[in-house]
Amino acid sequence: MSEATATLLDLITVPPDAGRAIPDAATGETIGYAPVHTVADLDAAIEAARKAQTAWARLGHAERSRLLNEIADDIEAHSEELAVLLSREQGKPLDGPNARFEVGACAAWTRNAADTVLEPEVLLEAGDSRAELHHVPLGIVGAIGPWNWPMMIAVWQMAPSLRMGNAVVVKPSEYTPLSVLALVEVFNRHLPQGVLTAVSGDREVGAALAAHPDLDKIMFTGSTTTGRKIVESSSHSLARLTLELGGNDAGIVLPSADVGSIAEDLFWGIFINTGQTCAALKRLYVHESLYEQVVDVLAGMAERMPMGNGLEPGNVLGPLQNRKQFDIVSRLVEDARRWGARVVVGGEPATELGPLFYRPTVVADIEDGASLVDEEQFGPAIPVIRYTDVDDAIARANASEQGLGASVWSDDPDAALAVAERLEAGTVWINQHGALNPLVPFGGIKSSGYGMEFGVQGLKAVAAPKVVSR
Ligand code: NAD
Repeated sequence: MSEATATLLDLITVPPDAGRAIPDAATGETIGYAPVHTVADLDAAIEAARKAQTAWARLGHAERSRLLNEIADDIEAHSEELAVLLSREQGKPLDGPNARFEVGACAAWTRNAADTVLEPEVLLEAGDSRAELHHVPLGIVGAIGPWNWPMMIAVWQMAPSLRMGNAVVVKPSEYTPLSVLALVEVFNRHLPQGVLTAVSGDREVGAALAAHPDLDKIMFTGSTTTGRKIVESSSHSLARLTLELGGNDAGIVLPSADVGSIAEDLFWGIFINTGQTCAALKRLYVHESLYEQVVDVLAGMAERMPMGNGLEPGNVLGPLQNRKQFDIVSRLVEDARRWGARVVVGGEPATELGPLFYRPTVVADIEDGASLVDEEQFGPAIPVIRYTDVDDAIARANASEQGLGASVWSDDPDAALAVAERLEAGTVWINQHGALNPLVPFGGIKSSGYGMEFGVQGLKAVAAPKVVSR
C-alpha cells in the first residue's frame, strides 16, 4: 500500500502484537491497534522537541500562522475520514452536534489560533522611557487530554502552543488514542520534525509527562482528581499549568422562561455528546410553576431522539465511550431510584443497541444530597430539581465545589443577567449551555481548574510574558 492510497487509520495503527486493540465504542469490534509508548519513548519525544523548538520559534508568527492555516485546510480535506474514525472510537454519531461537528471545530480552532493577532502591549511611554510587554515561546508544552472530545480538545491545546513557537508532546487518553494520532498525522504533514509528537501510552506515561523535568507548560484537560496529581508532579519543573477539569454545571430555569422556545437548546445543553461533555448542563433547577412542563418536554425529547450506531445516518445520541463511565451513570441512576426519585424516562441500559448504550434519562422529584445531583454523571441522565425561591436555587447551584459553567433560562433579559452575575462559574450562559466560540475565552474556577483557553487569552497562556524596557 502506498502512502497515497493508505488511509490515516492505516498509517497510525501498528501490528496486533505491537499495540493495544482499540474497540468501536458502539459495537466492541476492534478498529485498529494503537501503539503503547513507554517512558523511554516519551524521553525521546521530549529530546526531539527540545532540538526542534529553537528553529520553530525563530520561524516567526507569520510563517507559523501560514502553516497552521495549511493544517486547517488539510483537516477539512480529510474531514469525513477523521469524523468516521472519531465516531467509531469515541461513539458520537456522525450527525447532530457530534463527530462531523467536532472535526469542523478542529479546523475552526486551528484557524483561529493561526489568525489571532497578538501585538506587543505598550505599558509605559514617558519622555525617553518606554516599556513594552511581549509574549515569547515557553519551550515545550505537554498536552494531556480526555476521551470525550479527543480531537477538538487536542487542537485546543496544540494549535495555540504551536502558534506561539512552542514544541508540543501530546498524550491522548488511553481510551481514544487513534483519533488523536490521526489528527497529529495530519498536523505533521506540515510541521518540521520533532515539533509535534504524540505519545500514546497509559496513565503512567501521562504521569511521567507531567513530572518531566524538561517541560515548560502542561495543558491538561481531564478529571479534577488527575488535575490535583498534576499540580503535585509539576512542582519540581515548575511547569506552568492550564487545568480544564471536571464540572457539575447547574442550570436555573426562571419562572419567566418560555419552555417551548428553550426546549431544544436545553435538551442539547444537557445531552450533547450523550452527556459526556465537561461543560454540559448536569443539574437542572426549575421553578415550581414550570416544573412539570419542563420535565415533560425533556422526557418527550429524550424518548424521540434517535440513539444508535454513530455511522448510521440520523442517529444523534451514541453509547457511553467506555465501561467505567457506563458503570458510573448506571450507579448514579440506581442511587437516585433508591433515594426515592422518579425516573420519568430511561433509567436503564439500551442493550439492544450495543453493550455501552444507556437510554437518555430524566429524573424528577430529586434534591441536592442525592449523588446524581452532587456528583458529575458525565452521561445521559439529568436530575431535575424543583425550587420555589430563586435565591435558594442560586445558593444550591453555587454550593458545588466545581465552577466550570452555569446557565440561566428566561425571557426576561434583566432577570437573567441579575442571576448570571451571582452564579459562580467560569462561563454563565443565558438561554444556552455549553456553546463555545474560538474568540471567547473558556476556563473554570474553583475545583474546575484555572487558566483560560481560546483567543488572545489562550495565546498568552502558552507564552512567557517578557518586558522590554528602556
Ligand atoms: P482523566 O483525568 O482520567 O484522564 C485524562 C488524561 O490524563 C488521560 O490522558 C490520562 O491518561 C491522563 N492521566 C491519568 N493519570 C495521570 C497522571 N497522574 N498525570 C498525568 N496524566 C494522567 O479524565 P477522563 O476520564 O479522560 O475525562 C473525564 C473528565 O474530564 C471529566 O471529569 C470531565 O468533566 C473532564 N473534562 C473537562 C473538560 C474541560 O474542559 N474542563 C473537558 C473534557 C473533560
